Amino acid sequence: MMDDLRELYQEVILDHGRHPRNCRRVDDHSHAAEGDNPMCGDRLSVYLKIDEAGTIQDAAFEGRGCAISIASASIMTEMLPGLSEADARRLFDSFHLLVTGQDINESDADLDKLVVMSGVRNYPVRIKCATLAWHAMTAAMDGQATATTE
Ligand code: ZN
Repeated sequence: MMDDLRELYQEVILDHGRHPRNCRRVDDHSHAAEGDNPMCGDRLSVYLKIDEAGTIQDAAFEGRGCAISIASASIMTEMLPGLSEADARRLFDSFHLLVTGQDINESDADLDKLVVMSGVRNYPVRIKCATLAWHAMTAAMDGQATATTE
């Protein structure tokens, strides 16, 4: 059973890695930042369009990286639209706990989509790949131009 799940998760990651969603520039973005993971060579730009009410209207990314970093960016940009900045930050907090193998709040239903990334918890280098786009997302919201994993 666990092996089936692991295989399924790998399928999801490979699918997002090969066919990333929202892999584009948002020309009318309100926030943007670059994420740099020198350990692996991942380099992504994340674009956010946040309206005056503080709701994320659009999220996208472009750049180069390994399958994990691209898949994580793809899944993240699918989840962000409709969330407030605070919700997006909370989601990253939960995601970070998930990929570092700590207890998470089970009531956070959105985490279902992120559980596929939980396999990286045994690989510290891969945790940086999985969280890169998320670091770039929060850097963008904080008005910083770059986020680095080092
Ligand atoms: Zn990577």
